[in-house]
Order: sequence, then C-alpha cells, then structure tokens
Amino acid sequence: MLRITGGKVYDPANGIDGEIRDVCIRDGRIVADVEGGRQIDARGLLVFPGGVDIHTHVAGAALNFARAMTPENQRQATPFLHTAQRRAGIGGPTPTTFATGYLYAGMGYTTVVEAAVPVLSAKHTHEELRDTPIVDKACCLLMANNELVLDLLEAGDTERARQVVAWLIWAAKAYGVKGVNPGGVTAWKWGKNAKTLTEPVPGYSKVTPARIISSLARIVDELGLPHPLHLHCNNLGAPGNVATTLETMKVLESNRAHLAHLQFHAYGGDDWHNMRSAAAAIADYFNAHPNLTADAGAVLFGNAVTITADGPWQHLLYQLTGRKWGNLDVENETGCGIVPYTYKGSNLVNAVQWAVGLELLLLIKDPWRIFLTTDHPNGACFWRYPEIVQMLMNAELRRERVKALPAKALKRIVLADLDREYTLSEIAIITSAGPARALGLKHKGHLGVGADADVTLFHQNPDGELLFRYPRYVIKAGEIVVEEGEIRSQSDGNEFVVKPAFDPGIEDYLRPLFQQQYTMSFENYPVELERLEHAKIHSCT
Ligand SMILES: [Zn+2]
Repeated sequence: MLRITGGKVYDPANGIDGEIRDVCIRDGRIVADVEGGRQIDARGLLVFPGGVDIHTHVAGAALNFARAMTPENQRQATPFLHTAQRRAGIGGPTPTTFATGYLYAGMGYTTVVEAAVPVLSAKHTHEELRDTPIVDKACCLLMANNELVLDLLEAGDTERARQVVAWLIWAAKAYGVKGVNPGGVTAWKWGKNAKTLTEPVPGYSKVTPARIISSLARIVDELGLPHPLHLHCNNLGAPGNVATTLETMKVLESNRAHLAHLQFHAYGGDDWHNMRSAAAAIADYFNAHPNLTADAGAVLFGNAVTITADGPWQHLLYQLTGRKWGNLDVENETGCGIVPYTYKGSNLVNAVQWAVGLELLLLIKDPWRIFLTTDHPNGACFWRYPEIVQMLMNAELRRERVKALPAKALKRIVLADLDREYTLSEIAIITSAGPARALGLKHKGHLGVGADADVTLFHQNPDGELLFRYPRYVIKAGEIVVEEGEIRSQSDGNEFVVKPAFDPGIEDYLRPLFQQQYTMSFENYPVELERLEHAKIHSCT
C-alpha cells in the first residue's frame, strides 16, 4: 500500500490539470483510498502517469545486428552503473536489454512498444523483451510485405488474407500490425522499390501499395485490434514525399490508422538541394481527419543509428553518406537495413529534419493524436526526450536554436514563427495519456481508479536539469523502481499480446505453403506462449 500525498497531479485522461491531491495504490493498481502503508511526501513534486512509448526499436534481430555493427558506440557506459543488483549493459544509441529497461524507467517511462517484428524472428524478440526489466512491453508485427498475404490480395481472396493475418498475429504473439514501405521491401529483394501508391508492386499485377495499405487497415479494424494499422509510409526520408504521405492519408480515409515517425514523411521540394519542410501541409490535412494518430519521429543533432525494415531506403542512405551499411532480407516476410548516422546542425537537410519534427508537434492541434517519439534510435536516442519536452514548452528557446542553423535553412522551415508552448498537461498527453489511448491500453496513461499504478514524480523546478531527465520517483505496478535517479528495484514487466479470432482450419492452407516457401518448419514457426513469462492476453471481439 502506498499513498502519494500533496503532489500536483497531471492526469489529463481524467480531466485533472495540476490539482493538489493524493494518489493511492494497492496491489499494483490505483485505488480511491488506502489505510496505512507507506507515504510519499510529494509536496513540490509533479505527479504524472508513467510514460508510454508508442514507437521504439529496442529488441530483436535488427537491434543485435546494429549493436554488432557499431562496436565504437559500445565504449559508452550507461548512466546506471553495474552493481550487485544491476546487470551490466552497453550504452550508446543501441543499449542492451537491461540497460534499455533501466534507461526508460530512469526517464519515467513504464511501457514501450517495439515497433517492428517479423514472425520469423519473433521468438528472439520476445526473449529480449523478457530480458528488458521494469517496463511493460508490446510489439507490432511487420505485415505489409509478407508474401503469403500479398499473394492472397493478388488472388482477390481478402477473407482468407484476414484469416492469415489473424493467425500470424497470434503466431508472433504480437499486439499490433505494422506496415513498412508497403510493397517496397518485397520489391527490394530484386533491387527495386515501390515509389508510387498506384503502380503494381514488382512481381504482382493487381497488388499496389495503396491496395496493401487499405486492405491491412480494414483487416485490422475488422479483427477488432485495440491499436489501428501502424504505418511507415512509402518514400520515407525522400524530398517531396509529402505528396505520398497526403495520398496515403486519403487511402486511409475510411479506417483508423497510426502514422509512424511522421517527421520522416513531411518533406517538400523535389531533390536534396531544395528539400524543405512540408509540416504545415501535413498538419492541415491531419487536423481535419480524426481517424488518424501519429508519432513525431523527431530528430536531434548528434549520433544515431538508423534501423528499419525499409531496405531500399537504407541502401540509398548508405550511398548518400558512405557510412557502414548492413542489409538483411527476412525470407518472404520483410527486410532490414542498418546505417549509423550523425545529424549535424550545420547540414541543411538535417536542419530541416530537426525543425520538421518540432513543427509537426506544434502544428498538429490535438495533443491526443500526436505523440512524442524519436523513432529511437533513428532520429535520436529515446533518453533525449527531455530535450524535446523543453523545446516544446519554450518558444524563445526554439528561436535561439533556429538562429544557430545555416542561414539557408531558415527559408525552408517555419519553426521560428510558431509561438505555441506546450502546457504540462499537454506534455502528459503526448508522453503518456495519448499513446496509451491510441494503443487501446485502457489501464495505462492515467491515474484513475483501476489503472495500473505506473506513476512518475518529477521535481517542479529541476535544479539546472531538464524536467523528465531525473524523476524523483518512478513507481511501476505500485513498486518504487527509481528514486532520485537510482534504480531501486527491477521487477519484470508484462507483455501485452492480442488474440484475434481466426478459423483454425487456416492452418491446413498454411502448412503446405511452409514446405514450399520457408526455411523453418510450420511446427517450429509460432512463438510458444510459455516463452513470454508475463503475457497479458487481450482477446478481440
Ligand atoms: Zn521505427
């Protein structure tokens, strides 16, 4: 039992905006009242629901590939040193599992979504998620280049496609469905890409990216998944991709969808020499379409590692930068590319990217529909979120930063013209309440009775430090896990999984296909539920 007393509570899901009130916890949940037990004196502290990261890359084969490719980053220690209670981990842009859990918790985050998992390597991903302490976890399954599904769309058999998608979600023990460069990653196996939404994907005559996007969005809604299709649009990173992103949003008009790392999809111009921000055009359309949510995918200057299933984009980035490049095709399901990258304030393209992320966060009016992410570790490392929070809350600081950009950049961005400053309540929405709602995690992102007791207490005026950087306390499932920047306890988190309904007879269709097309036997393919030590299953209706 625990009573947090006298803190200033920010719980936007329940309409509480900076009220002084007590928060009571029993058996890992928020309750109306408790008698006795421990008290935390929270006078002078801000009380927020624990952070929820809707889009990050922290576990699985691609991460291990990136870790192996960047030994130079592994010299960086994590802030939480190895002790008898804590396991060692490498730092840098791709920290190892236990360091990932410590770092997220150390920032006040208690739930993370690994955004890109192929069924073929889902076992490994779950092993790493199980090894990531403290935080609750979920993952999104890569589906927009899965050839079993594309073949059914080609044949016009959408009913069977839906059965196969449902079966694959449960086989992977996933929570949501992700699309990455629909059709483009399949095409990349032959050195091609899918740059328009209406041309057939190479190897198909009827399957276009638009068809994949609309079919998957509809299937996800029909299956009743708590989170809509989670989409990485075509033409990520390319100058002029605003046209593709607007067209994609039109394709999605009759369904729900979540647009991942929108910053990377909001560029005007038509080549690298005239690339400019198109955040305003994206925000205008987005503001008028409440079926959509998005995460920012903001960029900060400094070192990053780009990791994505978008193989053709990674090859282009390698050609542009001459940096190391790794490519991994994942049989007939997806691909993967890795390129270490450094965003520089002096680079015109990077300066525009930096501005676009912030512009989207400021121009999209409803904080319940745009969430704080950096597409970790693509745009910046997740533990730099406090720097973004600070800029969102301070227009003058943003203008100072804009002044340091190359003069040419100023004509290509609108950031310095934006006066909006986020309130603390809005920060609680974009870091916790909003993503929890978009994920359909009803017991996360708020402090109402019955919610999971994930609570973060910040100093009201951090002494020379940024809000969020060192929470005073972080409470996960009712247990104090961080106190004054120190990890106090490292419980295991839960893993959220969905079980959509499907006809078990679909296995008779899939089994022979596996013999022809996969290196793995059908029996070995699904992730066993026992592999997830703390699975919480959401059944769809
Ligand atoms: Zn991502």
